[in-house]
Amino acid sequence: MQVRSYAKINWALRITGKRPDGYHDLETLFQTISLHDTLAFRRADAFSFDCDVPWLPRDESNLVVRAVRKLGTPPVSIALTKRIPSGGGLGGGSSNAAATLVALNEMFAMGRNRNELASIALELGSDVPFFLVGGTAFATGRGEMLTPMPAAAPIPLLLVFPKERVSTAQAFSQIRRYSAPLGIDRYRAILADDLLAHGDELVNDFEPSVFAQLPHLAEIKDALRGAGGAWSAMTGSGSTVVGAFRSQAQRDAALEELRGRWNARVQAAESVQALGVTITAEAQRSHRGATE
Ligand code: C5P
Repeated sequence: MQVRSYAKINWALRITGKRPDGYHDLETLFQTISLHDTLAFRRADAFSFDCDVPWLPRDESNLVVRAVRKLGTPPVSIALTKRIPSGGGLGGGSSNAAATLVALNEMFAMGRNRNELASIALELGSDVPFFLVGGTAFATGRGEMLTPMPAAAPIPLLLVFPKERVSTAQAFSQIRRYSAPLGIDRYRAILADDLLAHGDELVNDFEPSVFAQLPHLAEIKDALRGAGGAWSAMTGSGSTVVGAFRSQAQRDAALEELRGRWNARVQAAESVQALGVTITAEAQRSHRGATE
């Protein structure tokens, strides 16, 4: 079975308070984007996990491996094709974990329902439950109290991946002031109106402290606006900076202008309304063929 595991961005991310359990309460508008990894699962005699990049841990610190353990599946061989940078605020590891839960639940007919999968997902990480939902979703709590939002038309994006990695735990620990929540109705109104016209409300509370340490991220954000972006912000706890454009032509022109600058990878993508995880039609056919 083969599945796509999509990345996310945050259109907005407000940190609204610190909780007794050590986590922070937040309010965010998640968005699935077209950039994705691919995971292939095969029945096997013993568990194995392989990946096409050398730097990803293969042990229990890998969220895919932890997802398999938590689900308690029969032995399976997993191959991950990695395209989403790690530690970039795009939720790559969380998405991979959610994809593993969905795929193996189906492949081995484990019979876990959505709520059970969501609760395992939250044990794996605060962002993992979103990837069981996907599309555009409003979230509160640690990010697990999710409400799917009406689909917006695909928006052309440019992603800039600086070399620096930001630790999410460290980024949270530097937050000293909390924002007032805007509330779901305000996000609904923004989405119904024109998302990109409300940049002043689509803010990321991690930016001030992360930009203070990595000032060139602020330059990247400004350059994305300067190159025609209608909105630009860091995503998650960084370090990826995203620009959103009114048209593909504007996005492509900005890609040409910014490519090669800052010694950072620059890549085009768009917002998508797909599930956070999709089992490809071809994979479903071959899976059915293999099990019939
Ligand atoms: O849940 P996850 O493992 O992704 O979180 C990584 C770290 O980020 C946590 O250990 C915690 O320090 C911090 N965090 C937080 N509040 C959240 C999510 C994460 O403080 N809502």
